[in-house]
Amino acid sequence: MATWQCVKQCGACCNLDPSDRPDLEDYLTPEELTLYLSMVDADGWCINFDRVSRLCRIYEQRPRFCRVEAEVFSDLYGIEPEELNDFAIRCCREQIDAVYGDRSVEMDRYNQAIASP
Ligand code: SF4
Ligand code: SF4
Repeated sequence: MATWQCVKQCGACCNLDPSDRPDLEDYLTPEELTLYLSMVDADGWCINFDRVSRLCRIYEQRPRFCRVEAEVFSDLYGIEPEELNDFAIRCCREQIDAVYGDRSVEMDRYNQAIASP
């Protein structure tokens, strides 16, 4: 069984381009939406994303909507804890596909990582 994990130096979900996420208003509070939009750079990437290291510069202080945690996913998307693993994997794959492509090195690395025992 695949087990969700975040693969370092991926960063696909840090591409925040709102045109790719038309449902933001449905799951973010007005305050979170304002924060989200304030984080979007001109090219769609998060202003806190280090393009060279591909790491979050504010990882410990990152907003709630950046966190893959049962409580957050339940609150934002109505996902039950037992659904979290598969849902989060699907989200990562969709985001990696959109940003890097379905046959990218990043997708290969992701699939290998979540398949590891
Ligand atoms: S898309 Fe998934 S693997 Fe990539 S940075 Fe985001 S949470 Fe991590
Ligand atoms: S705050 Fe950090 S984790 Fe959240 S989108 Fe920006 S770079 Fe990614």
